[in-house]
Amino acid sequence: MLRKNDIIHLNITSATAEGSGVGKTEDGMAVFVPLSAVGDALEVRVLKVKKTYAFGKIEKILTPAPSRITPDCPHFSRCGGCVWRHISYEEECRIKWQKVADAVRRIGGIEAEIKPIIGSERTLRYRNKAQLPLGVSPDGSLQMGFYALHSHRIIDCADCALQPEVFARVMQITRDFLAQTDNDIYNEATGKGRLRHLYIRYGEVTDELMVCYVVNGNGLKQEDLLVKMLREGLPNLKTVVVNSNREKTNVILGSKNRTVYGSGFIEDELCGLRFKISPFSFWQVNRAQAERLYQKAREYAALGGNEVLLDLYCGTGTIGLTMARDCRKLIGVEIIPDAVRDAENNAAVNSICNARFLCADAPQAAAQLEKEGVRPDVVILDPPRKGCGEDLVKTIAKMNPQRVVYVSCDPATLARDLKYFAENGYETNEVTPVDMFPRTAHVETVVMMTRV
Ligand code: SAH
Repeated sequence: MLRKNDIIHLNITSATAEGSGVGKTEDGMAVFVPLSAVGDALEVRVLKVKKTYAFGKIEKILTPAPSRITPDCPHFSRCGGCVWRHISYEEECRIKWQKVADAVRRIGGIEAEIKPIIGSERTLRYRNKAQLPLGVSPDGSLQMGFYALHSHRIIDCADCALQPEVFARVMQITRDFLAQTDNDIYNEATGKGRLRHLYIRYGEVTDELMVCYVVNGNGLKQEDLLVKMLREGLPNLKTVVVNSNREKTNVILGSKNRTVYGSGFIEDELCGLRFKISPFSFWQVNRAQAERLYQKAREYAALGGNEVLLDLYCGTGTIGLTMARDCRKLIGVEIIPDAVRDAENNAAVNSICNARFLCADAPQAAAQLEKEGVRPDVVILDPPRKGCGEDLVKTIAKMNPQRVVYVSCDPATLARDLKYFAENGYETNEVTPVDMFPRTAHVETVVMMTRV
């Protein structure tokens, strides 16, 4: 029987998609070891013992796994952002593919073909957005960076390997500005203090930079100086925005924006279309991979020019709009009013006239459209992590589309929903995992279903 603080020998034989290696003890108990790799022979200290499994930490690597690499970020293992910087990217892709395959087969009971994962060409500096919390350490020094895993403790960073280099410059200028002025930093525990988050966005194609400060109050002291410092240090600065958030909440952005420099938004391109990105707009953080994901979704939708396309959970309309020219009519459904306004605007900017967007709950809107007799030929859905659920699947089946394309950020809820689709007359033909977020625990999937 294992006990806390035992030192054991362990061979790591599998990995969880959340970033732990797993090995089995002689009597068959699974031990989860963070930062280990499949193929490692380890000396492990047991930290916690449950009924059927345990947690441990590496004391010593006896034989390293072939996939092991030296982590290329000094914050790795403390910062909660990345979980896979200690293994090769090939191995990370294998683990992510396996997670999707296991979920689809075991939870969904589906025997469809799982295509190779579409890996990302860039595994470094692929993000175009950062939301950096600020705080003050017990010794009084400024902290700006990322939360530790499962915590709100800030790991102070000067740079992040997933972000464009220019974000480190914005961070440094912000530190310099704070050192010269008496803007105090927000304290999560007390709800007092001013500056909460630094929020940065970058348009890769347009080379436009947005810097946004989330403030507990109306603004910062000496905003003129701040804008001057940012403009001097950042030639591609397009706009500076102050967002007010006076709520005691984990939600980063408040409801009010005030533009202190420039237009209040940036623009970027995706699949040949132009999009306006304001601080509130949803925009894929890995642009290059989003294009490949949408390309795959488009291939699965197989539009011929005359179809009605229903895009559920459409955000700012991106997926549907990139296919609007291939169909007769596009209907998008999204619950957040600002996103719907962005979607309408995005359609107009790109001279797309066959799209309309509804601001509503997707299951409710679908039920209403079904009652009105709307019969889409193809349905695309891209729900948040909790998936779409059985009611929506039933409504979609009643609408009787030829094809359904499901884009998912959670393999488990995807697999559950695929099962509902199977029970309602839709066969899963093909599943393609897409790695939108290299080095992190997340994996995206796109699925093609057809009516049987
Ligand atoms: N398809 C978009 C956005 C997907 S993110 C893209 O690729 O850019 C999921 C979207 O679903 C978010 O915009 C979120 O606001 C929206 N959403 C969440 N719950 C919803 C619901 N019940 N009804 C409709 N939309 C919802």
